Formats: sequence, structure tokens, C-alpha cells
Amino acid sequence: MDSCVFCKIIAGDLPSTRVYEDDKVIAFKDLNPVAPVHVLVVPRQHIVSINEFAEQDPAGELAIHLMNCIPKVAEACGVVESGYRLINNCGKDGGQTVPHFHIHIIGGEDLGPGLR
Ligand code: 5GP
Ligand code: ZN
Repeated sequence: MDSCVFCKIIAGDLPSTRVYEDDKVIAFKDLNPVAPVHVLVVPRQHIVSINEFAEQDPAGELAIHLMNCIPKVAEACGVVESGYRLINNCGKDGGQTVPHFHIHIIGGEDLGPGLR
């Protein structure tokens, strides 16, 4: 996807600070962190949001792989013991600003109860 900022990061056409990568997934530091640890876990495959995921990944292999990567990324970021929060924003009201599916991993401090 030529116009997608995360596809450009995945391709290496835009710089990022990668903390984890394998053949299906990369994780890199968010440009505007909201906590000491704030990374984005992103499938290499361009999937717009969770709404399109099952259609693009019918066997669920990527979904399982991505889920299983989360603790590895958390470990790489040093928050696996202290804990962390996962966020996925979907669509307009969900506050999604980049239309390439991604999971935020946020931590490195006490995040409080989270939901309003
Ligand atoms: P969303 O709002 O879609 O859930 O999250 C998009 C995230 O991507 C935001 O937290 C934003 O700071 C981050 N972001 C947007 N553009 C870039 C970029 O070019 N590089 C990096 N590392 N993060 C970005
Ligand atoms: Zn993309």
C-alpha cells in the first residue's frame, strides 16, 4: 500500500526504532509516546483494521502469531514483569489515525485504571 505510513516503515522507506521483528510482524516505538514504553505491534501485511482481519486472515494464523508476539515485544521493552496495557483503536470513533492494523503496547509506569 503505497500511501500507508506503516507500510513505508515496514519497507524501510521511513525510519523507525524497531524493537522486535520476524517474518510476519514488526514492533517499533511510537513517534509520540504517551508513556515511557509505547510501541506499536504491526503485521507486515496491510490490513486496515480489526474489521478486515478475519477476511484477510481466514485461518487466523496471523492473528494467533500476532497475539503470541505481544509478550515477546513486552519482554524486549522490559515490561513483561511490571505489566502493560494493550490498545487497539478501530475506526473514526475509536480514534484510529493510521489505517493499518496495529496494537499499542503501553507501560513503564503505573497506568492507573484506564477506562473512564
Ligand atoms: P492510532 O491513533 O491509529 O491508534 O495510532 C497511530 C499511532 O501511530 C499514533 O500513536 C502515532 O503517534 C503513531 N505514528 C503516526 N505516524 C508515525 C510514524 O511515522 N512513526 C511512528 N513511529 N509512529 C507514528
Ligand atoms: Zn499499510
